Amino acid sequence: MEDSIRDCKLCDIFGTHVFDDRVMQERLPEETYRELKKVIDEGRMLDAKLAEVVANAMKDWAVAMGATHYTHWFQPLNGCTAEKYESFMSTTSGGGAIMEFSGKMLIKGESDASSFPSGGLRCTFEARGYTMWDPTSPAFLKEDKSGVTLCIPTAFCSYNGDSLDEKTPLLRAARALEKEALRLLRLFGDHQVRHVRAAVGAEQEYFLIDLETYQKREDLKLCGRTLFGARPPKCQELDDHYYASLNERVSLFMKEIDEELWSMGVSAKTKHNEAAPCQHELAPIFTVDNISADQNQLMMETLHRVALRHRLVCLLHEKPFAYVNGSGKHNNWSLMTDNGQNLLEPGDNPYDNAKFLMFLCAVIRAIDLYAPLLRTAASSAGNDQRLGGYEAPPSIVSICLGDSMLSVLKRLAGESGEEEYQSGAVVDFGIPSLPQLQVDATDRNRTSPFAFTGSKFEFRMLGSSMSVSWVNATLNTMVAESLDWISERLENCRDFDGEIVKIIKEIYLKHGKVIYNGNSYAPEWPAEAAKRGLPCISDTVSAAKILTHQRAIDLFSRYHVCRESELRAREEVMLERYSKHLLIEANTMVRMVNREIYPAVMRYATELAQSITAVRAHQYTAKSQEQRLEFISRKLDELDSAVIELGQIAERIAALQEMEQRAIQCRDQILPAMNKIRAIADALEVIVDKKIWPIPTYEEILYNV
Ligand code: ADP
Ligand code: MG
Repeated sequence: MEDSIRDCKLCDIFGTHVFDDRVMQERLPEETYRELKKVIDEGRMLDAKLAEVVANAMKDWAVAMGATHYTHWFQPLNGCTAEKYESFMSTTSGGGAIMEFSGKMLIKGESDASSFPSGGLRCTFEARGYTMWDPTSPAFLKEDKSGVTLCIPTAFCSYNGDSLDEKTPLLRAARALEKEALRLLRLFGDHQVRHVRAAVGAEQEYFLIDLETYQKREDLKLCGRTLFGARPPKCQELDDHYYASLNERVSLFMKEIDEELWSMGVSAKTKHNEAAPCQHELAPIFTVDNISADQNQLMMETLHRVALRHRLVCLLHEKPFAYVNGSGKHNNWSLMTDNGQNLLEPGDNPYDNAKFLMFLCAVIRAIDLYAPLLRTAASSAGNDQRLGGYEAPPSIVSICLGDSMLSVLKRLAGESGEEEYQSGAVVDFGIPSLPQLQVDATDRNRTSPFAFTGSKFEFRMLGSSMSVSWVNATLNTMVAESLDWISERLENCRDFDGEIVKIIKEIYLKHGKVIYNGNSYAPEWPAEAAKRGLPCISDTVSAAKILTHQRAIDLFSRYHVCRESELRAREEVMLERYSKHLLIEANTMVRMVNREIYPAVMRYATELAQSITAVRAHQYTAKSQEQRLEFISRKLDELDSAVIELGQIAERIAALQEMEQRAIQCRDQILPAMNKIRAIADALEVIVDKKIWPIPTYEEILYNV
């Protein structure tokens, strides 16, 4: 009984703040509703008359819900969502005010917004940027104590149509993927399907810490991660936080998160404590990639906002703390049709399974050919700290297919594969030369960066703070290219069934090297990967360059996802952001040492020195105190010279004009200099009087919520 009451409440809340299909049906004239649905369905532009009617209905609905303002809500290349509020107000000649919202205001916003990164795509004299309504992602209302705002998801482009945001390439790539997927489906005689979309479910990891401790740490405030902190005696080795029951403070926070997200139409589904202390996860139900990307941005924003209400802070940095797990964002990706098929799921009838194998092989080929691009999509200064350590995938992109699926490919390729499988369903592949096999749909391998989990692929490299847009734009484009390649072959063959087998065999033999079902965390994997010729791209500076390799330019321009100029801009923005992050970290470290850590340690050294004098005055030896003082004095000197050196490095690099040189030097000089300082400070932390140590330690932060 009680459960059903709660269910009702969830259903009552869900989508109340969304201008969704229900609201549109209710508020739009029937003709307008049908036309708008067609526009959304076909991805066309809205004409002015239609826009006028829709805008009016949207405004009436928003105002009835308490809205006073609207915003074109977009995702520039700075990793955040941007909003500039406009009130619905318009003044009348009589001195009064009316609420106004025109079709023009809905469709297009003209925004100066010249401070967003553009990678040189906008010179200041043509600095105008435009925000354009994306009718495929529903408008929604954001509500808090300060009021209600109508948020209209928009794309953000320059005057001449270059993308300056995350959304535009994703929309373009979705179109390319759909075109190629439909082409292949038609070859299989499927004329029913009208749409194919990538479905995405993004699992979001985050840390939740107390606001008061957070405020005492300049590194957390300015960099989002700790730059200092000795290893606490207890980290996550007991696995006692993973899936542990939620404490009430966290639970209350999560309840509010759920309810806020539900009201905005985000289907928050699962929540749990993660492996590291203070670490948690939130996952929604998957949906169309573009909507999923918008909803993930909204989720991150809501996490930040609601946390503060509970005097908590949500950390979305990929590696806020050393010695424990970092936070990732698992990007679950599959291909869904408008009539409910998942093209990455083996079906009930044999012919469907041949089709399934084609789509599966398209993904394998794409990942092998374009692995570096996928790696680039997961690159940032923050994620560099996470990848390769503590339960995070290494910097090598490989696919875990599962044993039975691998065995199908092996048999087809004429390699051995007589292994027996105890569990799973038998799958008939419909073509005589394709064996019947049991499909192992459970994924036991949690170490693979790109794992087939029975009906979807899970990309685990992405960092917790990153938008899911670019990674899915990349995936969609590279898979579109593979589907194109397969269709070309099938269109020009005489024996359709025979060609399918040939294609599978060819893809396995040529691209099977990217398949690795083993433990990706194992120390021997990098050497094995190198032997197979799989690239290992260890950092953001190396990854950024991949965007402008000829292969990448050819791929993205061929499918009209990004022009060369847009890729060059993205590369520049990536390098620029990387350098800026590292310079901020370096300067924060210098300040924290000079203004907090050094003076504190000096005070402790003074106390020791005074104590030694006092003890000696009583004719006792103060040997252990002398040893401590000697150690501390030496470390203080080391700390001082290391900090002077880091300050000089940062100053020199900040003066460099050339973007790539700047980034390279940040990576090669700042990171090692910072590691050196941290090691000294952390060694001091464990010996200096707790009352004197100026910043909260790891145990004080991680065991305080
Ligand atoms: P876990 O990875 O923790 O085992 P699940 O397998 O339950 O979790 O799913 C994780 C995410 O994958 C969820 O957001 C879920 O909605 C999403 N997901 C499930 N099926 C698909 C699919 N076919 N396509 C895309 N995402 C999916
Ligand atoms: Mg997962």
